[in-house]
Amino acid sequence: MANWNQRTVAKRVSCTGVGLHSGKPATLTLAPAAIDAGVSFVRMDLGVEVPARNEFVADTTLSTNLAHAGARVHTVEHVLAALHGMGIDNCRVEVDGPEIPILDGSAAPFVALVHEAGVQVQRAGKRWLVVEQPVEVRDGDKVARLEPADAFSVDFTADFDHPLITNQAFRVSVSDRAFEREVSRARTFCFRRDIERMQAAGLAKGGSLANAIVVDDFSILNPEGLRFPDEFARHKVLDAIGDLALFGLPVLGALTAVKSGHALNQALVKKVLADPAAHRVVRVSAEADAPRRAVVPALAVAEGRAS
Ligand SMILES: [Zn+2]
Repeated sequence: MANWNQRTVAKRVSCTGVGLHSGKPATLTLAPAAIDAGVSFVRMDLGVEVPARNEFVADTTLSTNLAHAGARVHTVEHVLAALHGMGIDNCRVEVDGPEIPILDGSAAPFVALVHEAGVQVQRAGKRWLVVEQPVEVRDGDKVARLEPADAFSVDFTADFDHPLITNQAFRVSVSDRAFEREVSRARTFCFRRDIERMQAAGLAKGGSLANAIVVDDFSILNPEGLRFPDEFARHKVLDAIGDLALFGLPVLGALTAVKSGHALNQALVKKVLADPAAHRVVRVSAEADAPRRAVVPALAVAEGRAS
């Protein structure tokens, strides 16, 4: 039953780390939020709330960045992936500056925060964004496509011009257990050849082997190696889950992506929201306790469009 109700965190929990690009210390707090509030970021230093929705995406250079009323929040995708992947519908993510701490470069520390807080089941049915028609965006050989499905799944193929990351694919049906076990621990990665270029541009000042996999021409520079043989593709799945969280609702649909990134993922979200025939928003009955497959078409109440 609980899975069909909205969820928030049961209490406030915090962590501190550095911002990947600024290199400055950053503290993040997850706090409970009301039914139907969704996820939002709160810049505590400015007193501005930035909803975690596609319309507030300001920039997708290397990370997904939001802005509202002059306040920016950078690198939102990993904490959003953790909340989306753990089935948290409503949460205030408080930050004391412009960047989310990078921590170990994966979503695992945010999953640990959710566990530390505990999950509060709320007295309202979950709202879903149901994909009703296939929608696709392309940019050269990069593709991202959402299709109707009876569960949320992500199938990602990563193919970089690099011997260690050629045609690496990972697919997952996103339940909170699968997300936590198979996706959340996959770290972000970068190429050694790009680090100097990024740091010259004033980016990645907080980057280190403690918060990213760094790949040389033929090897992994991190002494501990990889957490999964296909950690790169798994991290791209993690990023895509975080990016699709910017629908503002959990998604019922199958994402297939080839070489996609934050920019193309957001273009896909925008295209789905702009097309009234491609999606609808439903609220599942809070009392429902049958499997999702049976429940969503039968008990969902159409609420109109998200856009
Ligand atoms: Zn990432």
